[in-house]
Amino acid sequence: MKHRWTKGAPHKPERRLGAFAAAAGKWRKGIFLAVGLMAALLRFHGMDAEFDGIATVRAAENPPEKLQRFEYAAEAMAEPLKIILYAPDEPTAERAAQAALDRIHQLNDILSDYDPESELSRLCLQAGRDKPVRVSEDLFRVLAAAQRWSERTDGAFDMTVGPVVRLWRRARRSRQMPDPTAIEQARQLVGYQNVLLDPDRQTVLLKKAGMRLDPGGIGAGYAIDEALRVVYKHGIRRVLIDLGGDIRLGEPPPDRAGWRIGVPGLDPKAPPREFLLLSRCAIATSGDAWQFVELGGRRYSHIIDPKTGMPLQARCSVTVVAPDGLTADVLGTALNVLGPEKGMKLVEDTPGAAAWMIRAAETGPVTIASSRWIHLPREKTPASERSSFSLDSSTPKKADKKKLDKMPEQEKPGVAPPGKRSGAATP
Ligand code: AMP
Ligand code: MG
Repeated sequence: MKHRWTKGAPHKPERRLGAFAAAAGKWRKGIFLAVGLMAALLRFHGMDAEFDGIATVRAAENPPEKLQRFEYAAEAMAEPLKIILYAPDEPTAERAAQAALDRIHQLNDILSDYDPESELSRLCLQAGRDKPVRVSEDLFRVLAAAQRWSERTDGAFDMTVGPVVRLWRRARRSRQMPDPTAIEQARQLVGYQNVLLDPDRQTVLLKKAGMRLDPGGIGAGYAIDEALRVVYKHGIRRVLIDLGGDIRLGEPPPDRAGWRIGVPGLDPKAPPREFLLLSRCAIATSGDAWQFVELGGRRYSHIIDPKTGMPLQARCSVTVVAPDGLTADVLGTALNVLGPEKGMKLVEDTPGAAAWMIRAAETGPVTIASSRWIHLPREKTPASERSSFSLDSSTPKKADKKKLDKMPEQEKPGVAPPGKRSGAATP
């Protein structure tokens, strides 16, 4: 089936070339994204900054190509998808964007945990049957990467949190605390050690009946990497792919130093804290800004500590820059669980990764940056112009509602599901 861009998008691509034209000021899962030419950025012309594998600033070294800007928007994996690319003509742009969208939908059909027909859901039905299941290359790749990260994070990142996540998703909707016995039972099913992968046969064995794999912290990252690959195959390299705030960047726009990407603080309503100028890498933000529930006066994040089965409660936002989307996505989630000390050590040990973390403390917000973060190219903003924010000013009810509205219908109580796409990413 051919998937479509939202009405008018492929046929009437936006070609605004003015500064900040693209998506300035629009929140998506905590990341602001603005694309545009800042005259000042041209100062970076000719500079080629490389650090540990990420080339973040690179100017157009050839005579300016005759490229036009095209922008497409759609929904995929239950998240807003935006692709901005520079192509010589509209048919080329459209073919590339359509192929990327098709690829993301194909991955959703494999990875969705909402769609009972997805390959992932069907695999989970085989849990506890003691029979290895042969899976597609994509699913195997995602699971193998997840396993590697579970080992590296000592289980702080763990796709087997599915049963616990389910309980807390229900709590979010019903606004009722889950039953402690149910939490404990669900927690018993968590443990990446119970996922056995056989790379030779490309098979997966889930040891315990009732196990469920949750793609929410890795699926979007993998999908944007694959989408970028597809766009590159169409000969287009100046591209930005934003899937619900997981952003993958190719080469920068013509004559620009990099894509201008805003880094959020704790308050989703406040303007970005600063703007990075990036290309040929990925950036993702993870935290409780958008997805949380307040129960009994406490705020529970959508991120779970697999060791306790409880959601995180400290207000935290982590932004990660990494060479690829999967790494940025996973690290963002993992750092929330690991906390600053272990988390930043992991980032320092990961080639090309940089992270910035902001956490609420009694004395006010505390920020921590990794060593590579400090050296990322950024737009210089005078301190006086930087936005301030208040922890209490965040009233994300509206934002939260937006998220819930995007939820696949079968997850909403009492609503029939016809024809709605399900999402690999958590709504
Ligand atoms: P992200 O928004 O990338 O931080 O991903 C968060 C999503 O990942 C949650 O909504 C869950 O679906 C899933 N998740 C929650 N906790 C964990 C965890 N400890 N390890 C892996 N995935 C998790
Ligand atoms: Mg993540």
